[in-house]
Amino acid sequence: MVTGLHQLAHNLWWTWNQEAQEIFQELSPRSWQNLYHNAVAVMHEVSDYELRMRLQDHEFARRVHEVLENFKNYLGDTETWGAINAPKLKDNPVAYFSAEFGFHETLPIAAGGLGVLAGDHTKAVSDLGLGFVGISLFYREGYFQQAINAENWQTEYYTLLNPKNLPVDPVLNAKGEPLICTVWMATSQVSFRAWRVNVGRAPVYLLDTNLPENEQHYRDLTLRVYGGDSTTRILQEILLGVGGVRLLRALGVQPSTFHMNEGHAAFLVLELTREKMASGMKFEQALQSTKQECIFTTHTPVPAGHDRFSRDLVNYGMLKITQGLGLTPEQFMGLGRVNPADKSELFCMTVLALRGSRAANGVSELHGKVSREMWHCMYPNGTVDEVPIGHVTNGIHTLGWMKGTVRRFWRRKLAAEKMTMPTGEETAFWSKKPALHLENEVNKPEFWAKMADPEFVSDEEIWALRFKLRRELIEFARRRLLLQGRSFGQNDFITLDQLLNPSALTIGFARRFATYKRAPLIFDQYENVVKLVKDQERPVQFIFAGKAHPRDDEGKKYIQKVIHLSKHSELAGHLVFLENYDIHVARQMVSGCDIWLNNPRRPLEASGTSGQKCGVHGCLNLSIMDGWWREGYDGTNGFSIGDDTHPDNVEEQDKRDSENLYKALTEEVIPGFYNRDANGVPRQWIQRIRRAMVTLVPEYGTWRMVQDYANKYYIQK
Ligand SMILES: *Cc1c(COP(=O)(O)O)cnc(C)c1O
Repeated sequence: MVTGLHQLAHNLWWTWNQEAQEIFQELSPRSWQNLYHNAVAVMHEVSDYELRMRLQDHEFARRVHEVLENFKNYLGDTETWGAINAPKLKDNPVAYFSAEFGFHETLPIAAGGLGVLAGDHTKAVSDLGLGFVGISLFYREGYFQQAINAENWQTEYYTLLNPKNLPVDPVLNAKGEPLICTVWMATSQVSFRAWRVNVGRAPVYLLDTNLPENEQHYRDLTLRVYGGDSTTRILQEILLGVGGVRLLRALGVQPSTFHMNEGHAAFLVLELTREKMASGMKFEQALQSTKQECIFTTHTPVPAGHDRFSRDLVNYGMLKITQGLGLTPEQFMGLGRVNPADKSELFCMTVLALRGSRAANGVSELHGKVSREMWHCMYPNGTVDEVPIGHVTNGIHTLGWMKGTVRRFWRRKLAAEKMTMPTGEETAFWSKKPALHLENEVNKPEFWAKMADPEFVSDEEIWALRFKLRRELIEFARRRLLLQGRSFGQNDFITLDQLLNPSALTIGFARRFATYKRAPLIFDQYENVVKLVKDQERPVQFIFAGKAHPRDDEGKKYIQKVIHLSKHSELAGHLVFLENYDIHVARQMVSGCDIWLNNPRRPLEASGTSGQKCGVHGCLNLSIMDGWWREGYDGTNGFSIGDDTHPDNVEEQDKRDSENLYKALTEEVIPGFYNRDANGVPRQWIQRIRRAMVTLVPEYGTWRMVQDYANKYYIQK
């Protein structure tokens, strides 16, 4: 069992298994908290001797045994969705390339939603038993940690990740030494190694150039997520795309499909083409053949958001690769240009990705449409509708996002349901029925359909759960604010226990502070919002969090504005900003808030996923009709800001959206939340929560999403 626990810590399966987490936590509650829920590090804190002794406790040993059995059965299950529907992917998996993966707070190698999506994709692929291998980079300083200075300005600091204390295993060769591959960058052969992350059944390899044989600037290539300037960027992308293919070959993996999650990985097309040329094909034929192996998911609805590199940079970075393909620099540039002959065009990764893939997709219906319009220029012979870009709407890994409190709630419900099964003769029948495991139920529409039924779960129970979750968030926020305050030597936080009201309508906003997301939009209505927060009968409060990109001063100004308001305006006490947004903070917020606010400038939110994390917790979305919400909202399962249109003029749009936001708040949200019956229960509000659970949760999960990818793109007929 001691070995079993070590193995378990090295497989991220535990991050979506509640009982496994509880065991690591119980081994050392303080380490669990101080080491930020890092099972590997906790296992280092607890000696094997202590473990053996702890396992003398029969009850504890029984639980450990059960978790390890479940883990073994999970890994060994041969009757998965993938085994039945996509058996060929077992030997020829999908290779999924992404510059970031967000799995869990202990492995901070994601900058935001793109990475979290990749992580949730992988977890679902594992659950479904689909042949899969992921490729990314091992950023040894990860994504930055956020601290706010005395001017309320975001500053960044980095902590070194130690692979020994992370759920990563070195990839070794037959001699048991690190497997080393190389890739050409500029005029150097750069070596790299890889770390393997076990995500249930799915391996993800993280490439790492930090090797003594490399020059220092190449060693630092994998220092940070999207770190450095555009030179770093292009070299990181060479490593990801070209290096990723090389690693797979060194491991003997022969993927049936290469899936580029965003354009960062598009250089893989070049390596696959080179391979074919090495076995005798001509360039054009090799590229066409490569195209049949690749698919591409785009995430960026603005032209400026796509990675582009200058001719000089491409010539510098890709010199050897260009030569290897037998192309002139000008011909090479053409691969990344809409019009290959147009010398003024930069090299665009999205163009290369589109050119090198058999199918492409956006991440929501509207985003599919916007992408077809944006890239019509590449397919001028057909109409906009004929542009070969479809869509698969994003989702989340439902079980992974479900807070422990909520899992326990549903588990008790399922257990109770079993006990109220018919008695007498029929008992024999029911006892043959396997127990309802939450793990199996959460992805079934039939399970969520039960939420419409007050016999299964009453309004009072849902409302009690909402109070509990809101209380947990507020206590989490107070703790965080205490720590934030301390770092400045502030001591006016005595009143912290009065900060935030556990009964007030709590509105959350947390995501990257990219300016198009317009974090401070609601405060355009400052005078009105002050009235709302000060309303004694029907108070409203706001919790914000999020990081701006280190070079995005406009985003940092938004953070500064929100923090300033939270400290020095009439909103103080009713508005807080939590520093250092990450997956853990996200989980607290999407569960504890009553309303999840999303007000991007339409149509710039390709999908958005944070709002999808709310449904299981009974938190409702209040959102612009953009991305996934435009498909998810049905008039009964949350709230919309404005309608399915937007003016072209940005100022006009901002003005209209902030007015509509205020209107929705005051006409629908606040009255809805505070419309209570004689028992103090808001029946109509809870009806909305039920509708959100029934209609949104099963649809906006990565189980549905991955099956869509499989049926549309991965499984070749
Ligand atoms: C879900 C999530 C996101 C994505 O949020 P959006 O609202 O879709 O932008 C970003 N960061 C973290 C940490 C998340 O958990």
